[in-house]
Amino acid sequence: MRNRVIDVAALRCRYGDFEAVRGVDLAVDQGELFALLGTNGAGKTTVLETLEGLRRPSAGRVRVLGVDPHRDRAAIRARTGIMLQESGFPGDLTVAEMARLWRRGDHGDALERLDLGHRRDVRIRQLSGGERRRLDLLLAVLGRPELLFLDEPTTGLDPESRQRTWEVVRELLAEGTTVVLTTHYLEEAESLAHRLAILHEGVVVVSGTLVDVLAAQPARISFDLPGRLGVDALPMLGGDVVHNPSGRVDVRTRHLQEDLEILLTWARRDGLALGRLRANHASLEDVFHAARGGREVIAA
Ligand code: ATP
Repeated sequence: MRNRVIDVAALRCRYGDFEAVRGVDLAVDQGELFALLGTNGAGKTTVLETLEGLRRPSAGRVRVLGVDPHRDRAAIRARTGIMLQESGFPGDLTVAEMARLWRRGDHGDALERLDLGHRRDVRIRQLSGGERRRLDLLLAVLGRPELLFLDEPTTGLDPESRQRTWEVVRELLAEGTTVVLTTHYLEEAESLAHRLAILHEGVVVVSGTLVDVLAAQPARISFDLPGRLGVDALPMLGGDVVHNPSGRVDVRTRHLQEDLEILLTWARRDGLALGRLRANHASLEDVFHAARGGREVIAA
């Protein structure tokens, strides 16, 4: 069995009279990437700060790397890396000076890995927003932390820098680092996460492995019905069929492979072309919207 790195039960956090986190349970194993998702104000930063030991919960049990992160902050601090949403670097230092100041040693490799090698002698204030974000990540991963907290690490990055960040995160995971990520980019979570939780108003509304969470939502088939046909011409399908005024048909189904086969067999038999045919399993975007509607609570 894998080591449990984070174990949270019935966590509650208050700001005065306002309870921002209302009974959250989380578990993260070693080497996993755990994505904490939710709308603005859902409570992600509050949970993250509690895990980092920066905030004392008002109730509940929190264990990070086997200890209480608030009480044993010094122990946790030495074993974790944190990339905050906003950094406050002294702008006069150069990239290389900042890296040296942060941790002793030669940072040549790490600078190259994040494509900052050619910027090592540039002052921080002269970096672009994306380069500054990569420097944040560099500082968080120097010293090879066992546990890495990434708070919206790719906000403001161009697609290439985002890909590079993902590559670095994947390398760290392959080396056994455990990662807790918050992001508003659902495709980022879908591409990186093993396990996730969606928070809504301080409560976990969806949680589980990425595979289970996606499998719990219906898949979608869509296509243009040839003009002369009505929806009643379609064969019997397992899923729900919606015929849009535009002529496009949407099928929401829990039997993607079977329904697709029925449709294709029918189309071939009658010599029909299904225009712009698409078949997709559910995306995290679908899960997120269903959860926000409060219609579905999935615990896998
Ligand atoms: P975002 O996606 O915008 O970063 P979040 O999910 O991280 O949001 P939190 O920052 O944890 O959300 O905030 C959760 C709730 O607690 C919000 O309603 C917020 O207004 C409230 N809150 C956060 N910090 C404080 C504070 N210092 N005092 C009072 N209320 C606060």
